[in-house]
Amino acid sequence: MRHYPVFLDLRGRDVVVSGAGETAAAKLRLLMKTEARIFVFGVGPVEQVGAWASEGRVVLIERPVAPGDAVGAALFYGANADAVEDARAAAIGRAEGALVNIVDNLEGSAFITPAIVDRDPVTVAIGTEGAAPVLARKIKAEIEAMLPARLGALARIGQAFRVRVEALDGKARREFWSRFYFQRGPRALEAGEDAVRDELERLLAEGVAPQLGVVGSGFVHFVGAGPGDPELLTLKARRLLHEADVVIHDRLVSPPVLELARREAAIIEVGKTAYGPSWRQSDINATIVAHARAGAVVVRLKGGDPVVFGRLDEEIEAVEAAGIGYGIVPGITAASASAAAIGQSLTRRGRNSSFRILTGHDVEGFAEQDWRDLAKPGAAAAVYMGVKAATFVRGRLLMHGAPADMPVTAVENASRPDQRIIATTLIDLPAALAGTANGAPVLILLGLAPRAAAVVARDLREAL
Ligand code: SAH
Repeated sequence: MRHYPVFLDLRGRDVVVSGAGETAAAKLRLLMKTEARIFVFGVGPVEQVGAWASEGRVVLIERPVAPGDAVGAALFYGANADAVEDARAAAIGRAEGALVNIVDNLEGSAFITPAIVDRDPVTVAIGTEGAAPVLARKIKAEIEAMLPARLGALARIGQAFRVRVEALDGKARREFWSRFYFQRGPRALEAGEDAVRDELERLLAEGVAPQLGVVGSGFVHFVGAGPGDPELLTLKARRLLHEADVVIHDRLVSPPVLELARREAAIIEVGKTAYGPSWRQSDINATIVAHARAGAVVVRLKGGDPVVFGRLDEEIEAVEAAGIGYGIVPGITAASASAAAIGQSLTRRGRNSSFRILTGHDVEGFAEQDWRDLAKPGAAAAVYMGVKAATFVRGRLLMHGAPADMPVTAVENASRPDQRIIATTLIDLPAALAGTANGAPVLILLGLAPRAAAVVARDLREAL
């Protein structure tokens, strides 16, 4: 380790930046997060630097840095993007006792600035001794995704509460803070900082008997798992998966998404198969409630978006009736992923100003719809769970005047490695669906054709 990581206290200290162009602006963005007084020297500042100066966030002196400018400065940056000017400036910084950094010049620098994940007061610094900036960026992105965006606010509130928690013994204290930072705190923060303080009080009251499984401390997150590609998860979904004690998921949730759960988490599949063996909804509800009652943080993971054909209301009602808290995290629904796959948008000026989401079958069998409206030119709709109902849908639409050659596209396994796009017409729809795999999810887009099959295929290949 050639570079030793430290956190430097810049409160009230001076930092000098030589240069007022884009290179300097990039450094200033980071430096302005500190409590340092920042002096920027340079002619012809870029607009952004000028704006910061007029907001009083930096002091801008529109001339090259000169001897005497760096006296007493803690840090000195050569950020002119000009090797000669940087060398001249750096010599001044060094002579006047500041630690000097020349941007993108490891040998000329006494220190380097790490990649930073900022959840002030929690700061993660990532350094690779200049060897692998790409790696540093990748690690930064991973850590950014891992830490709740508002972890900093939690840490600040938690800090003020530390003395109160001192009374707990070591193990209970660790349990207290872990529950606070990763479960109860983030949840409470959604209702505001005061709610976080209340939650700390509650946790402390419970802390007298801090064993896991305290009745009432369970919680249920209804989380959208997206259409299958794990990269289409939201950051929140990913974080909650990582924190859950129990993950209860549909058959539709893809294995790579489940991989993101903690190794210690219990993973329970409550699969439903159209016209096949299924879990009863009442049993699913009971399972969710039982785990939350036992004190677990439960992630109820649903394919796509839980608010679209997800039987969400029934599960929420069961959870509410049991007096258990819950939250909902939306996801990318199959219609969005399918539209993306065929290069079309679901709405388009001059074509359709509304878009419908339909189910092929409901409690009473094949679902009736406003067929007349759906048969109109330009109408577009997504049919979920529609494979078995395809012949019925075709019959109804034709009967209400839809043209036999109305474009229809079925997307099988949208966003997954085995995604398949079947472009067809209304009249040929049932035959075209005959080739879809049994049990694979298929979304039918009525009124939409792939933008241009060849182009989409090429783009897909390039995207992979
Ligand atoms: N909540 C889910 C829908 C659940 S209903 C969502 O928002 O996507 C189940 C139906 O969703 C399936 O029958 C199929 O029509 C559709 N579906 C879900 N994932 C899909 C995928 N990856 N590709 C194609 N269709 C999908």
